[in-house]
Amino acid sequence: MASTQPPAYRRAGGTRPPPLWRCPRCGRLFVTRNIYHGCGPYTVAGFLKRKGPRARALYRGFVALLRRCGPVIAAPTKTRVAFMVRVRFAGISALSERGMTVAFALTRPLASPGAAHRPLQPEVVWTLPAD
Ligand SMILES: [Zn+2]
Repeated sequence: MASTQPPAYRRAGGTRPPPLWRCPRCGRLFVTRNIYHGCGPYTVAGFLKRKGPRARALYRGFVALLRRCGPVIAAPTKTRVAFMVRVRFAGISALSERGMTVAFALTRPLASPGAAHRPLQPEVVWTLPAD
């Protein structure tokens, strides 16, 4: 269940969230300083390298879908690409010519065909076929 409390910066009297912290080694953005992460030179281009045309089209379609909701930042890691505004809320964990597996961090279960819930993790995973 989602918290009904205002965020910490508002409880402290602030009107704007603090700026994101940028890791000086990899350049990735985080809500808090020195948060643990798999630090490395990961890029979207690296994630898409050796992917076929259908996989790349799936990637572009998913990014376009997310951007219909507002600006998002791609946050690539060694094995996936997450998407964030302030926190990572969605990600592509598998991508091939056969389909794509995406996950969303949600505050509630979602009844949807193709959705697999991971009860111990606050995310819902869909596996989408390429056709
Ligand atoms: Zn880093």
